[in-house]
Amino acid sequence: MTNRKNIFITGAASGIGCETAGFFAKKGWLVGIVDIDRQGLASLADEIGEENCFMCELDVTDADSVRQTIEKFGQKTGGGMDVLLNNAGIIKFGYFENVDLSMHKKIVDVNFTGCLNCIYHALELLKQSPGSRIINMSSASSLYGLPDLSIYSATKHALSAMTEALNLELEKHGIYVCDLKPPYVNTPLLEVEEEVISIKKMGINMQTDTVAQTIWKAAHDRKLHWEIGATRILALVCWMFPFAKRFVVKTLAMGK
Ligand code: NAD
Repeated sequence: MTNRKNIFITGAASGIGCETAGFFAKKGWLVGIVDIDRQGLASLADEIGEENCFMCELDVTDADSVRQTIEKFGQKTGGGMDVLLNNAGIIKFGYFENVDLSMHKKIVDVNFTGCLNCIYHALELLKQSPGSRIINMSSASSLYGLPDLSIYSATKHALSAMTEALNLELEKHGIYVCDLKPPYVNTPLLEVEEEVISIKKMGINMQTDTVAQTIWKAAHDRKLHWEIGATRILALVCWMFPFAKRFVVKTLAMGK
């Protein structure tokens, strides 16, 4: 195995994944960048230098391709993986009844099944790297089901539950599992035409560099759920006033 630390990032071609890839590369890490967006990957690889990355076009919903890609990554690292960052994700705003069933299912496939595929196939490599981590990209919407984002929010709840269970199960292998719960972050994910009440009310106040810095901390420190920015305030309110959760979320996401 090489001495160089490595991280495998899904959905690395844009937004949070792209920023995090650059951040870790600057710290000297070998960065595995995978995404369905070949062009975005190529420009990221140009930026961070091909010698600093392993690049591969990958759809995380395709379990067999995930297995093959992770195998190739393992060949490049000499048989280990220090950090798996499950970051690829999609979103669709709209009330449940106004979104196609195929889109609901796609959100589940990418946001949840994609993570499951990557964890499953990365386990052997993670076991080989002492103190390795799995970092799952959950969201503030995992604190309470969010109208306009019912299925997206459900996938982020599911990720949190998987994080908690695997944090316990994988401890014996020295693998530390956690998740991140950012509020709205300024990325192409939120470039939507429709007006979204929760965005209007809460704003998009977090930048990708803050999230990348938190991922860096999560790769080194130990904490189960990384609630950042406005999510910390929401989590505190939910904890102190559990009976008020429904009202707070209704006010923030549905207006009157
Ligand atoms: P983004 O759209 O900028 O980047 C997401 C990347 O995932 C894109 O490059 C896209 O091509 C890739 N992707 C989509 N489907 C894929 C697939 N099947 N296989 C591989 N790659 C795929 O979005 P972002 O805001 O950087 O989001 C990254 C993660 O952070 C997501 O999981 C998102 O749910 C989560 N998150 C985002 C916000 C936010 O407000 N932006 C807040 C909390 C959590």
